[in-house]
Amino acid sequence: MRQTKIVVTSVEDDNFCKCRFCDKKIAEIKNDIMVPSAEECYKNGNVPVPNFGWFCSQACAVNYETKFDINFAKTKEGKIDYYL
Ligand SMILES: [Zn+2]
Repeated sequence: MRQTKIVVTSVEDDNFCKCRFCDKKIAEIKNDIMVPSAEECYKNGNVPVPNFGWFCSQACAVNYETKFDINFAKTKEGKIDYYL
């Protein structure tokens, strides 16, 4: 099985990791550890962006791009995925 090491650092204002666009709760932070784990969140379709944070879905990531006029790296399928 392929190992995915996900490292996402971002400043959170409370003990939750939330979608940067819609504020949906993605995980809880307990002693600096994500619950469920980052790997699990990633597998569940949440989108981690290094040195930025998380989106709950591709749609939220794309909406964020549009709103703030930025571009995340994409796979050739057009998905935002830094951990493929
Ligand atoms: Zn979202």
